[in-house]
Amino acid sequence: MAPRIGPAQLVFYGLAFLGLIFALGEVRQQLGGSDTSLSSYVRSGVAGNLEGASPGLTDAVAEPVESMAGRGLPGALRPYGNPLRAPNTVMTQDYGVGTHAPAEIWGAVDLALDGDGDGLADPEGSWDQPVYATHSGVVTTTPNSYPAGNHIWVSNDEYRTGYAHLSGFAVRNGQTVRQGELIGYIGSTGMSSGPHLDYQVWVKQGDGWVNVNPLEFGALEPAP
Ligand SMILES: [Zn+2]
Repeated sequence: MAPRIGPAQLVFYGLAFLGLIFALGEVRQQLGGSDTSLSSYVRSGVAGNLEGASPGLTDAVAEPVESMAGRGLPGALRPYGNPLRAPNTVMTQDYGVGTHAPAEIWGAVDLALDGDGDGLADPEGSWDQPVYATHSGVVTTTPNSYPAGNHIWVSNDEYRTGYAHLSGFAVRNGQTVRQGELIGYIGSTGMSSGPHLDYQVWVKQGDGWVNVNPLEFGALEPAP
């Protein structure tokens, strides 16, 4: 006959079982749910509307302010050059791969800085380094969004560029900026496991916007 399990033992086994579940949950957290095939440095999220993001954080980045886009804007409308304006810039994730796939939705490049000259990006060399607008446009800021974190759009009639995971803004929502103007600082806000800039370029086509490869707009080239 099976041994009788008393109420005390029942409570004990119940607690042990709950403890096990909790421990398993913590282990999964430590792994950060990130795709370990990618360097932990590039795990990021991008700007975009993402259903079902964590409650309590702004789910999606705000839509750019259309009304003032393009008209009478100073300087270059077409984005060009490296938004970090730094010769020691390193691309830590390419366009259309990993978390940047499919490119139509998530297309971007991840950029960071090589502070110690070993050819690899490093957090020490990247934290809070300046980020510049690559073209003229109107600013839309979204603080604390998910997965993009602190996010900026710079938009005009023809082009829109996105800057994600910033540690802070250097501009206000609705402000007009010129190509080369300081707009923010490299951070790791939102879904990111290391300080880097997730940089997107979109081109207006008809009524919609098409995601394009920032490398075709000189994202790794010296800015004008
Ligand atoms: Zn990215």
